[in-house]
Amino acid sequence: MPARTGDQYVQGLREKPREVWIEGECVSDPTAYPGFRGGIKSVAHLYDMQYDPDIRDEMLYTSPTTGDPVGMSFLTPRTREDLERRHRMMYNWARFSGGMLGRSPDYLNSSFMALAAAADFFGQSDPRFAENVRNYYEHIRENDLTLTHTLINPQSNRAGGPSQQKDPFLAAGIVEENDQGLVIRGARMLATLGPISDELAVFPSTVLKGTPEEDRYAFAFAIPCTAPGLRFICRESFDYNRPHIDHPLGSRFEEMDALVVFDDVLVPWERVFIRRDMQLCNDAYARTNAVVHMAHQVVVKNVAKAEFLVGVASLMAESIAITQFQHVQEKIAEMIGYLESMKAFLRAAEADAEPDEWGVMCPAWWPLNVARNMFPKMYPRMVEIIQLLGASGLMAMPSGRMLDSEVSDDVRKYLQAANLDAEERIRLYKLAWDISCSSFGSRQVLYERFFFGDPVRMAGALYGSYPKDELMEQVREFIHRED
Ligand SMILES: Cc1cc2nc3c(=O)[nH]c(=O)nc-3n(C[C@H](O)[C@H](O)[C@H](O)COP(=O)(O)OP(=O)(O)OC[C@H]3O[C@@H](n4cnc5c(N)ncnc54)[C@H](O)[C@@H]3O)c2cc1C
Repeated sequence: MPARTGDQYVQGLREKPREVWIEGECVSDPTAYPGFRGGIKSVAHLYDMQYDPDIRDEMLYTSPTTGDPVGMSFLTPRTREDLERRHRMMYNWARFSGGMLGRSPDYLNSSFMALAAAADFFGQSDPRFAENVRNYYEHIRENDLTLTHTLINPQSNRAGGPSQQKDPFLAAGIVEENDQGLVIRGARMLATLGPISDELAVFPSTVLKGTPEEDRYAFAFAIPCTAPGLRFICRESFDYNRPHIDHPLGSRFEEMDALVVFDDVLVPWERVFIRRDMQLCNDAYARTNAVVHMAHQVVVKNVAKAEFLVGVASLMAESIAITQFQHVQEKIAEMIGYLESMKAFLRAAEADAEPDEWGVMCPAWWPLNVARNMFPKMYPRMVEIIQLLGASGLMAMPSGRMLDSEVSDDVRKYLQAANLDAEERIRLYKLAWDISCSSFGSRQVLYERFFFGDPVRMAGALYGSYPKDELMEQVREFIHRED
């Protein structure tokens, strides 16, 4: 089947009842729930963009198996030009939301592209698993399916691993194996985009200890979001169905985060990629380079997001005529520095790309690894700068309908800005508020801090793996130098 349109994505959700719990209600058709509406519409728009005549060539390529046009984020890059093609496609999607849809489908499409190219890694314990990964990648590529994933065990007791919790099935584990497959019981968190996805990938992330009790937590698989016994438990929606002028981001880009409960869910054998193998689990992302291709997508998104925020801050400063103040210039210059460093990391990663052991053109890891460690610090600072520039203006904006109320003359007079009329000013400052003050904005900050993993442990991994020996040797040599 060729790449999907937005209507096909929405129809797919409507036709496949699932168990999604939100606000005490079970919602089987997410398209019917108002709190999901804006997010679904935006994801649908991404799919429609694939057929936009102006960029179609950047969005699609020809499937090597069916000859159909399929999504460019599935392309297995063999050359640096292929990486650039992937980059352009991902940037088109990221720009649409100003980088606010972190889980646009290209994120996990990139992951499965790399996992499938490295399928022999999964075949080490059982050749069927290599075949399963390859078939699954083709399945999602040819049907243009939307994926979510869940990697982390519930945050209950972090002093122990999954086997040391009060209940052995608090963390999702294998409770049974039978002719049909694995049966999974327990929970994982989180699954962003989960309730409005087609498929759920369950992969390991936290390091498992090599003890026999932990092997029931050592697995990787993917199942439809409609699988019997699979339950998504959502936080409240930040899409309050307000007009775009009032909640410009929340009304459009709510991608939802959910706890995932496996109530004895059957995972058919053909969907199992790793079974009771701690070593494969601990190595999966790094050895396959899936993490590198995911980071590539993330840094493309970071560029689009930083561009969006620099644009917002610059417009705000211009609107109330504060651009002549040096500290304002300094703050926006700081944001420009963050934007330009993300672009530089991306360019360096692509310029230094090399084929990996699986024959895939792989972006250089250090620039991407450093970028993923730095953006969680840059993004909250950019948001802070928007607060510092916006000041009371971020709280003073009434809802859009006040422009047509009995006090509209007051609103139009007192909320105008030096260089913007009141309506434009409300639109801009409401956007700044949705970035820096609203529930949606706070969640974006938390997302950037954590979605790729705990920043402390990511920094530890960077420190531990970075080749420092030569650098230390150079300094040793210097401190003993006579001339
Ligand atoms: C908005 C959002 C969306 C997300 N979406 C997804 C998703 O789609 N899929 C997914 O799988 N995950 C998702 N996550 C989860 C994300 O992967 C985790 O937040 C991240 O890995 C950190 O794990 P944790 O939240 O369980 O924090 P914890 O591990 O519980 O950490 C809590 C605190 O304790 C400290 N700590 C805990 N253990 C240690 C340790 N061993 N050593 C040092 N410090 C420690 C941490 O540094 C941190 O300060 C999302 C998270 C957020 C916030």
